Amino acid sequence: MSSNSLISENTPHLLVLGMGGTIAGLAPNPQENPLQYEAGQVGVDTLVAQVESVVPVGVNLVSRQVANINSRNLTDAHLTSLGLAVREALLDAAVRGIVITHGTDTIEETGLFLQVTCGKLAQSQSKRVILTGAMLPSNAPGADGPSNLLDALRWASTSIDNCPGGIYAVMDGRGCMAMDLSKRHATALNAPLQNAPSSSVGLINPSWLSGVKAVQAVWSEDLPIPREGEWPWVEILTSHAGARPQTITQWLTSAVQGFVLAGSGHGGFHDGWVKPLDEAMAQGIALVRTTRTGAGTTLPNIPELDAPGCRASGSLTAPRARVALQLALNAANLAKKAGKPLTWQDYFARIADLPEIR
Ligand code: ASP
Repeated sequence: MSSNSLISENTPHLLVLGMGGTIAGLAPNPQENPLQYEAGQVGVDTLVAQVESVVPVGVNLVSRQVANINSRNLTDAHLTSLGLAVREALLDAAVRGIVITHGTDTIEETGLFLQVTCGKLAQSQSKRVILTGAMLPSNAPGADGPSNLLDALRWASTSIDNCPGGIYAVMDGRGCMAMDLSKRHATALNAPLQNAPSSSVGLINPSWLSGVKAVQAVWSEDLPIPREGEWPWVEILTSHAGARPQTITQWLTSAVQGFVLAGSGHGGFHDGWVKPLDEAMAQGIALVRTTRTGAGTTLPNIPELDAPGCRASGSLTAPRARVALQLALNAANLAKKAGKPLTWQDYFARIADLPEIR
């Protein structure tokens, strides 16, 4: 990781961590075709330099490139690096707040990951960590990156009344808890926030804020960040018309440790999967059931009774449930080594049963 500090490391500052994405993208023909571009081309130091002259007076900025990728290529190792960088910054007395520039394709996964591994620390350190990105590349006419970055920097630096330290996200003038991100539109400027309870940046809405506080009140302990190479292997499998048993059986000779089943409707899956999933559970593969509909809650024992090795995802979407299951399996492995009687279901419940913000 490199940093472009023009100020001493001990001067109070905001830290901007660059992960890449469209906010750092370049289109070869931005006037004619702004949506044909490559993500992760511009350094985070350049993105910061573009807005530095308009950040509030007295706010110093330091940037650090953690990765510069198209976020559809996000790996477990990237999450480990980002999580460790965020934790280090949260514990650094000179860092007042953290902004992360990220691709929107998988910002959903990163939002959940940071909430579960760093949310308590951010709260106890009274620092905001703000994820942001863009839907248009940096050289497109009307690019949304600079205003999103500016909103994130303002939110990270100002003492907006009562908005506690925590993990948030900002896009298109609105803010939400990062664990509520879910990209559900291919092109809209607010794509990752479409289903998220949100508040306009700079004008925090009291009912949204009470939801944030309700989540923080029950989040008692951050889960460990898995070390690179130690992330449990979890796949998302989608049930659909004509689903075949082979979609499940082909995994049974692999080292996979968990499946997230993106089911239809309430999160039910094709009858053709029942027998092979029984075999998967008998092998110790962890199962989480969610809905492929894109919204709503997947409740236990609805529409049918759940098998003992299968857990409903609550409000977690399939991408979020996948990361949650990885973190829960990792935490359970570590608990076992430490002689604690906690299972992946215990850890998964802590994440899936958080209050929903309304
Ligand atoms: N494919 C891009 C990425 O996730 C999309 C974006 O950033 O909006 O990196």
